[in-house]
Amino acid sequence: PARLDPADLLSVGELLTDEERLVRDTVRKFADERIRPYVGDWFERGVFPARELAPELGELGVLGMHLDGYGCTGSSAVAYGVACMELEAADSGLRSFVSVQGSLAMRSIHAFGSEEQKQQWLPELAAGRAIGCFALTEPDFGSDPVNMRTRARRKGGDWVLSGSKMWITNGSISDIAVVWAQTEEGVRGFLVPKGTPGFTARDVHGKLSLRASVTSELVLDEVVLPADAVLPGVQGLRGPLSSLNEARYGILWGTVGAARDCYTTALDYAKSRIQFERPIAAFQLTQQKLVEMMLEVEKAYLVAVRIGRLKDAGQCRPAHISFGKLNNVRTALEIARSARTILGANGITVEYPVLRHANNLESVLTYEGTSEIHTLVLGEAITGEAAYR
Ligand code: FAD
Repeated sequence: PARLDPADLLSVGELLTDEERLVRDTVRKFADERIRPYVGDWFERGVFPARELAPELGELGVLGMHLDGYGCTGSSAVAYGVACMELEAADSGLRSFVSVQGSLAMRSIHAFGSEEQKQQWLPELAAGRAIGCFALTEPDFGSDPVNMRTRARRKGGDWVLSGSKMWITNGSISDIAVVWAQTEEGVRGFLVPKGTPGFTARDVHGKLSLRASVTSELVLDEVVLPADAVLPGVQGLRGPLSSLNEARYGILWGTVGAARDCYTTALDYAKSRIQFERPIAAFQLTQQKLVEMMLEVEKAYLVAVRIGRLKDAGQCRPAHISFGKLNNVRTALEIARSARTILGANGITVEYPVLRHANNLESVLTYEGTSEIHTLVLGEAITGEAAYR
């Protein structure tokens, strides 16, 4: 029989359709050629060349990939997931860019925007000619956004927004910000174009994680917006939370890619690194680590395929997404740390991807619902008791 593929011993890839495999291979090629050779340097310098990459990602068809119409690809959930997996195998910052643009900014406009808003923004965002962000978190409200302080009040026919948002991916480089604010009618979403008077963004510096990604603070100081800046289709936290659910779905796939990249890097390294006159792969302790990684990558991949198929069948519930997010991010982080030990001192440099992945995954563990919050979502799902407060 043919030799088993160490990177996919159970052949989970065979559960994908031909079309999904084509997406996988196309995105992998893009990531290998356009991202992988450069991303260590971007990470070290703390930059992400978004303007340059966005049109290429648009061309690749991954921006708002799972949305229909308006220049979007209209892919299945699994195809979108597979794309996230290959993007994050290169770097979590790249996948974050695509998640924020497609699943948070575009998805919010697609689900809740007026026809005019959709026509104006979605084709531009899908092509990567425009960049979007999604601003929910505030300095004092992260896991619990209910009491957010950003306010929008009506003034004549206009809206006036005041407040600040924190940790906003793509914040300072966005042409359009989807900003969530408290109003007399509950939480509502607003489209705030770049350059609107009173709207400023300042980048967060000193990050040790997700360095190849722009993270910003947004300040809204009496920002006047026309009546048609509000997303008409939703009131209440259901709006932002439903978009977050879409982005988390991308994360449960993406982290399989980061985990696989750490595992295969460690496997290759172990086979060529000689100590005590033998490849370190020949030591039982190394083999145990590699086998644990392989088991966990494959299980996480299976979880992703299962949740993707549920999503395509219209049967995916928020608890399923929490299952995948909690399990797969945690798994990827453990694999990254274990891979780092196999690489010894080389493992701490940007020459190899493992510590970059491990550091990135710290952010992924926290954003889009922390691991604690997803534990509580699952706790409620199985016990019927809510333990958030
Ligand atoms: P907190 O909510 O203060 O939590 C701190 C700790 O307390 C965590 O361990 C948490 O799990 C725990 N905790 C809180 N409540 C409970 C509870 N009830 N029970 C048990 N434990 C609890 N936000 C956006 O809106 N848009 C973005 O684009 C965006 N991008 C981001 C990019 C990066 C790199 C990072 C790091 C964050 C980003 N975020 C973004 C913010 C992110 O969503 C928040 O950081 C996250 O929701 C957690 O909020 P917090 O950091 O305020 O932590």
